Amino acid sequence: MYYDPDMQETPSGDVRTPRVGLAHETGHLEDYMNGNVIPVDREKAKAGNKFEIYKIKLNEQNAMEVENIIRGILNYENRRDYFK
Ligand SMILES: [Zn+2]
Repeated sequence: MYYDPDMQETPSGDVRTPRVGLAHETGHLEDYMNGNVIPVDREKAKAGNKFEIYKIKLNEQNAMEVENIIRGILNYENRRDYFK
């Protein structure tokens, strides 16, 4: 699991406190531990392949749900879309 405690924004540039980022990564860790990660061809996704992008969204679903639990506790607005 990669986590930067000093990172104050999401990779797409939205403001996000590090503890919310930690919650997000914990959601990915849960998926890895449960065998729920779908293999993605990142090169095809970068080139715009909609199926690969869809798989990324599926892989982000649990992480965003865990992130939103912590956002709710901290009274932050929920994150609704990974690619915003
Ligand atoms: Zn993620």
